[in-house]
Amino acid sequence: MKEFVQSLRHPAPPPGWLRWTRQLLPPLCWKCGIVLGGKTYLDPASPFLCSNCLLELPWTDPAFHCRQCGNHTAEPERVACQECMENEWDLAESRSGFAYNEIIRHWILQFKFFGQEHLSPLLGRLLALSFQNSNWLEKYDTIVPIPLHPSRLRKRGFNQSLLLAHHLRKNLGKISPNLHPHWLRRIRATRPQTELPLAERKTNLEDAFSALADVQDKKILLLDDVMTTGSTLNAAARCLKEAGAAKVGALVLCRKMWDSSN
Ligand SMILES: [Zn+2]
Ligand SMILES: [Zn+2]
Repeated sequence: MKEFVQSLRHPAPPPGWLRWTRQLLPPLCWKCGIVLGGKTYLDPASPFLCSNCLLELPWTDPAFHCRQCGNHTAEPERVACQECMENEWDLAESRSGFAYNEIIRHWILQFKFFGQEHLSPLLGRLLALSFQNSNWLEKYDTIVPIPLHPSRLRKRGFNQSLLLAHHLRKNLGKISPNLHPHWLRRIRATRPQTELPLAERKTNLEDAFSALADVQDKKILLLDDVMTTGSTLNAAARCLKEAGAAKVGALVLCRKMWDSSN
């Protein structure tokens, strides 16, 4: 927890008067704005979306996605899609809570680029909800959020993946793996992957990460907010495996789904 607080660098808690005002208000659905009954706004068990809006979110169906790259597949239970059969991955598997579109995409953009850090509890909670009745997380010892380079961290003020990991764990409770954000560091500032053509994305990340010896023999789950091609997560997985990790998987809040017929 101490590490988590230190990593925020520029925490921005809501002012006291706002907390008090919020406590007096009934919770509203974050999407459609209707009044939700029951608990006060700050209660951790307070509802945050109405049941209609919750159902309408673009949830990922684990049965219809490639277990390797996380892209959706037309056929159920595909271990690897056609593309993954032709490519080598350092990631053992990947999984997402949602497809990267609709309101979730909007919330992520607000959270990351418009300083809306207050969305992180909501997003962490939604990711935790995607694990209801699932034991998928049990095989991992530790969650390691994808780190930001210190220069990017200074600019943004927070690491979105670390905030997500914190709120995911808070909602998972006892079934959550440990959190070790400092086991992986970003030692080279790279251009954002989204600004680069696909061909340059792999080389852009060469030697971008460094891992601590603590990862030895551990089963590590990397956590990120969005997965597009998976090259960032795969580069991080390669670094962790070279440092001795036994297994590295990836969990993302959202996966950009590509048109695929395989
Ligand atoms: Zn609603
Ligand atoms: Zn695949």
